[in-house]
Amino acid sequence: MANRRPVIAGNWKMFKTVSEAEDYAVKFLEEVKAVTDLDIILCAPFTALYPLKNELEESIVHLGAQNMASADQGAFTGEISAQMLLDVACTYVIIGHSERRELFGETDEEIAMKVQKALTSGLTPILCVGENLNVREEGKAAERVQGQVSRALSGLSTEDLSRVIVAYEPIWAIGTGKTASSKDAQEMCASIRATLSDLMGLASERVPILYGGSVKADNIAELMTEPDVDGALVGGASLDPIGFSKLIHNANPLVARVEGI
Ligand code: PEP
Repeated sequence: MANRRPVIAGNWKMFKTVSEAEDYAVKFLEEVKAVTDLDIILCAPFTALYPLKNELEESIVHLGAQNMASADQGAFTGEISAQMLLDVACTYVIIGHSERRELFGETDEEIAMKVQKALTSGLTPILCVGENLNVREEGKAAERVQGQVSRALSGLSTEDLSRVIVAYEPIWAIGTGKTASSKDAQEMCASIRATLSDLMGLASERVPILYGGSVKADNIAELMTEPDVDGALVGGASLDPIGFSKLIHNANPLVARVEGI
């Protein structure tokens, strides 16, 4: 990994009430307080963001949301704006998660607008891309994912692009227990970096690219040995504070290399 700081982000999806989130934060902070070598992000449901702001204040754990609107404000029932997220100390936001694309019909066009709004508002977007099983079996995974990346990001300045995180999440691996092999994850993350390089040249070397899809405490180290895998977006395995902190401790790429994993 070329001088990129690893990132491990948890995506709680639609889990955890306010009291569950507060309880999690207390236990989790105790386990990860000594971590210095990677960035940790918790992407929580909207209702848990404000209480988590208080719990995570002055800690090393960053707060993220799982979606946001591309509009600033207005008659958009059920939506949340970038300003509202900033107001509760969010610094990251997941955009274009496959569940948003598949279940809520989000298009590449909307995703591009959300990425742009996140950047102009001062939030770091975690742009999710990934192919379904049919596309993979047709041998078109790289083409699909490269198209998603360029449609979401083209037109942005190199400066803006340098503030984006991309998460490669094959849909067939999300919540299924089937992880991509580290070789496949590397191949796809490298093809994403090639697309970023077309958009922003050498600065693409600075963009963190995460893998997501059934990442667990016992497979993260192997994934992290790959040169273009800079961390993980973790769903199910982020829900337990002790299990997630174990995953984070196992994610240190230096440990993975020394142990020859
Ligand atoms: C996700 O929701 O982004 C995800 C990768 O989920 P899981 O880790 O449960 O596969």
